[in-house]
Amino acid sequence: MTDISLADFHLTMQVLDHLDAGIVILDKNYNVYAWNTFMQAYSGISSEQIMGKSLFDVVPHLPEKWLKNKIASTFKLRMRSFSAWEDRPWIFKFTNFSPISGGSDYMFQNMTLTPLKSLTGEYTHICLTVTDVTDIAKNKNHLRESNAQLTHLSITDRLTQLHNRGHWENCLNDEFEHFQQLSQPITLVMFDIDHFKKVNDTYGHVAGDGVIKNIASIVRSAKRQSDIAGRYGGEEFGVILPGTTADMTSYFTERLRKKVEKSSVKIDGTEIKVTISLGICELHSGISSYESWLEQTDAALYESKKNGRNQTTVAKPDGRFTPLVSTGSREKQRDRKVC
Ligand code: GH3
Ligand code: MG
Ligand code: MG
Repeated sequence: MTDISLADFHLTMQVLDHLDAGIVILDKNYNVYAWNTFMQAYSGISSEQIMGKSLFDVVPHLPEKWLKNKIASTFKLRMRSFSAWEDRPWIFKFTNFSPISGGSDYMFQNMTLTPLKSLTGEYTHICLTVTDVTDIAKNKNHLRESNAQLTHLSITDRLTQLHNRGHWENCLNDEFEHFQQLSQPITLVMFDIDHFKKVNDTYGHVAGDGVIKNIASIVRSAKRQSDIAGRYGGEEFGVILPGTTADMTSYFTERLRKKVEKSSVKIDGTEIKVTISLGICELHSGISSYESWLEQTDAALYESKKNGRNQTTVAKPDGRFTPLVSTGSREKQRDRKVC
């Protein structure tokens, strides 16, 4: 190196040392050619300890295979390449001790790999530029979590933690549209707590809320993962069962009805027991909108109320309503035409 280039190198190193980014220059054998102050401060490895040695022999916890591949492809393509914290949070495992970005254990990093040409025009070295993006990453992660929380709040009923009416109706509409394309069976169930007003009048509103919550948890345990349950109104619920016929749905509704009938909520030493009335309607080509699907299911539910409550009625495609035969009380199944 001539005097002038040594002076140049000295000036250049001063600039590199004052950068708020890590600068590592390697030759093709991964031997370290430059290691600036940023890298020394965060790694605890001085330039004397690392200069001229293989990066992978001195720095622990490096993703060696990945980094070697990345370096090889950068040399091959003779173009800059990049690694983002979203894909790989860190490359150099630096403990994060900046007070602003405290809280997360390791420094989130972006890294740029720049191939460097020698005086003869060959690519002989590579420069790794490491930037601390912990603050950006933390803010973005925080924003992502807040958004997820907000979304959850906006679609969830507070009392029952089931889907709220708006979101559940959107799901119903989506499922209705899918049916037009896929034609797989799908059935809707609506149910309502029997004589619920009496519960409120006798035990108070808070006890009533406890009963609603208990019903919601029974629905959650009785339904399949793919079934979509929502709180439609005060004490009325809806469950969409994709891929399920009305006949198959009756197993679910009977299980649900019996579970509710058997369960009780204890308030101040008093056991409160309720029953539910249900309506079932399998979607078919004669139903022209999700609203009308909902209306027919509700009409079946109303039939259950009319016929004595604590039972299920199926809305048939021909407009009839069929009470579901309870496996417990061997009632005779009968068809009735509703005027
Ligand atoms: P039916 O068997 O015909 O359904 O009779 P019902 O008494 O259950 O029906 P009605 O529609 O007369 O009364 C429903 C009651 O549900 C009235 C309302 O105050 C109560 N309700 C609605 N939402 C809530 C709620 O979030 N908490 C409580 N505790 N009560 C509610
Ligand atoms: Mg009711
Ligand atoms: Mg009601």
